[in-house]
Amino acid sequence: MTSSTLSTSQDLHDLTVHDLALALKNKQVSSVELATHFLNRSRTHADLCVYVDIQEETTLQQARQADARIAQGTAGKLEGVPIAHKDIFVTRDFNTTAGSRMLKGYRSPFDATVVANLAHEGVVTLGKLNCDEFAMGSSNENSAIAPVGHDSVAPVRNPWNKDRIPGGSSGGSAAAVAARLTPAATGTDTGGSIRQPAAFCGITGIKPTYGRASRYGMVAFASSLDQAGPMARTAQDCALLLSALCGPDLDRDSTSLDMPAEDFSRKLNDSIDGLRIGIPKEFFGEGLAPDVRASVDAALRTYEELGAKLVPITLPRTELSIPVYYIIAPAEASSNLSRFDGVKFGHRAEHYTDLADMYQKTRAQGFGDEVKRRIMIGTYVLSHGYYDAYYLQAQKIRRMIADDFQNAFKECDLIAGPVAPTVAWKIGEKSNDHLANYLADIFTLPGSLAGLPGMSVPVGFGEGGMPVGMQLLGNYFQEARLLNAAHRFQQATDWHARTPKGF
Ligand code: GLN
Repeated sequence: MTSSTLSTSQDLHDLTVHDLALALKNKQVSSVELATHFLNRSRTHADLCVYVDIQEETTLQQARQADARIAQGTAGKLEGVPIAHKDIFVTRDFNTTAGSRMLKGYRSPFDATVVANLAHEGVVTLGKLNCDEFAMGSSNENSAIAPVGHDSVAPVRNPWNKDRIPGGSSGGSAAAVAARLTPAATGTDTGGSIRQPAAFCGITGIKPTYGRASRYGMVAFASSLDQAGPMARTAQDCALLLSALCGPDLDRDSTSLDMPAEDFSRKLNDSIDGLRIGIPKEFFGEGLAPDVRASVDAALRTYEELGAKLVPITLPRTELSIPVYYIIAPAEASSNLSRFDGVKFGHRAEHYTDLADMYQKTRAQGFGDEVKRRIMIGTYVLSHGYYDAYYLQAQKIRRMIADDFQNAFKECDLIAGPVAPTVAWKIGEKSNDHLANYLADIFTLPGSLAGLPGMSVPVGFGEGGMPVGMQLLGNYFQEARLLNAAHRFQQATDWHARTPKGF
């Protein structure tokens, strides 16, 4: 980066996290300048509906402290870089709603570990980003919270075409990064919620191996699947952020991995000559739209030019991942959401006759339709007489899906395919067709059920000029290798650097 890159403030939002960290360190720009720039930009583009909470004075205060640490020479690795958080991470200084009426106006007494880890490296928080209620959804149409600058609930818009959904559930995160309202954002992925919105908005995202990132302070959806990760424009930025946000948290998250924090950037520039990329035939069948297929195929040819070898593989239970996920995730959700009873925190119905009536009214008022649907499915599959037929059976198939990946990884180092069968659809198009929403998760669910790390990388544009994402899946703990493969691809292509018109 040259100093001329910073000649006008107009350029600030085009810089990557990597470049911003460097510019801050070299005192070419201050954290306060950056925070002000991005806050102004967010106000200008309030029609995208990405933010659900902004606290300008808090952000500027954090930025002033970052500038002071840079001046004193006590800076963290990302000191002064502003980012925004999905509103599923609890935060002391910003509201946390998880997109639900149940938590409207809720303020947590502590920060989620992911938020605290990033702050420890000097990251400044710009605000909280819209998401589907309790992270349930694929389109961000399930949020019950009015975005900043709006009086009522309004869907997040995709900056590539404002009539389209940004994907979900981390839709606010993806749209905000794509529109350059923040250099990067956090997201969470239970069944694809980092990878799919990243693909739909033309940005890069990574979900690490289950257990890498602490779930402490992440409002729980399905605990055996939920995992946090960064969403940014480049794989290089994802590597920097992932290194900061991961790490053991054994006292506070019982499924946190007892592994030291890692530098996920260390392999970025390694050669991928001879890398064996597995191509699962089940990911390229009938259901895949031709425009998505064309972009993914072209990306695979680029990989061949970079020296990788494509290896045909099979993931025979891919289709079963949909019924398996939509039994296990609702089962866990029905249990996790029992904590919202109007007693400890969140919404409580005003008028009720007794305790049972208070529970019923509170939950009827506080939860949206999709959440209620999942609680009902989850309660059903866990109930006596159905547990063996549905829940136990789903658990067995989940194990087989994980075994299928281990078989595949005997023949390849990474797996590549589409993130989603189509590009982002129109707002409202599938909002009454729940099954259509569930089916669109087919390519992201298998990796989630197996707990594997996965990425989404921009590889082109399809129908209506909407971005297409390629999915890369790795074996457990292979994040550095995934990021390496993505980075090498981004060195050879410029899909990740394209900007939606007007941003
Ligand atoms: N679309 C999936 C669902 O609705 C995945 C959501 C997620 O990963 N949080 O459950």
